[in-house]
Amino acid sequence: MSQVTITVSNEHIEQMKVHYKPYLQKPPQGAVFRARTNDATITAYRSGKVLFQGQHYENEANKWAEQQIHSNKQPTLFPNKDKTTYFPPEQLFTASHIGSDESGTGDYFGPVTTCAVYVDKNNINRLKEMGVQDSKSISDANVHILAKEIIQLQIPYSLLILHNEKYNDLQQNGWTQGKMKAMLHQGAIQGVLKKINDLPYEGIIVDQFCTPEVYKRHITSEGERLPDKSFFMTKAEDYSIAVAAGSVIARASFLNEMERLTHACGFDLLKGASQKVDRLIASIIQEKGETFLPTIAKVHFANTKKARKYM
Ligand code: MG
Repeated sequence: MSQVTITVSNEHIEQMKVHYKPYLQKPPQGAVFRARTNDATITAYRSGKVLFQGQHYENEANKWAEQQIHSNKQPTLFPNKDKTTYFPPEQLFTASHIGSDESGTGDYFGPVTTCAVYVDKNNINRLKEMGVQDSKSISDANVHILAKEIIQLQIPYSLLILHNEKYNDLQQNGWTQGKMKAMLHQGAIQGVLKKINDLPYEGIIVDQFCTPEVYKRHITSEGERLPDKSFFMTKAEDYSIAVAAGSVIARASFLNEMERLTHACGFDLLKGASQKVDRLIASIIQEKGETFLPTIAKVHFANTKKARKYM
């Protein structure tokens, strides 16, 4: 079997565990977690070693090998042939550029939202002063306020919402969540490019969730083409104010949708994919029937099965 091992910090292992939440399985002895995606089986150990096995193991390993470089931990053990071509040049972060990020991919309930934002270089400092940063480090209340402030600046952006019915249909038709994300980013970026018309920009940064090669494979399979000057980097919101602004607007939209769904179904829907979520699913199925779930949830997550324990 094809496989590779990389070594990461404990902090990264925790991040990975959150990332792979929908795919977690019972870990073998001594392992922190084991996850099985369409591409690979990932097993993380307390020693910091993470083993990637399976047909497309390099797709998964590459995501994390990149992060090692950004955090200046020990150098990557896995060669990334895309790195030179698609890694953004440093001067891009201080130039006019487009950035794109998504929200809701790890949450059982609610949609996936994606937002691409164009930031003119003259607006970069203003956005920084406003406190625009990775939405994961901002409280829900402040995400709403900040999103409004960004929009009031009349900064060009394009927001796409993949609602649960459509998400589940695509998943049933064989789309991975990675493909959905790639197509959402592509759509949001195309939306912004249309809006900005002839305004100059130096590049487009996608907050990376798979290798550029896999991303391209996803979008070309739907007849789309990667726009010129596209770049990929993990944790891009820490470097690009446009990606950070995209993450804030996408998060605010996700939270709004969660509120709307909560009102519509009469259950206080929870974020994330915890055991509390499993219990809530059981209550919802008992009151509304299993056929109601696809209208509010990403039903392929393991939570749907785990909920049976509570019925
Ligand atoms: Mg992201």
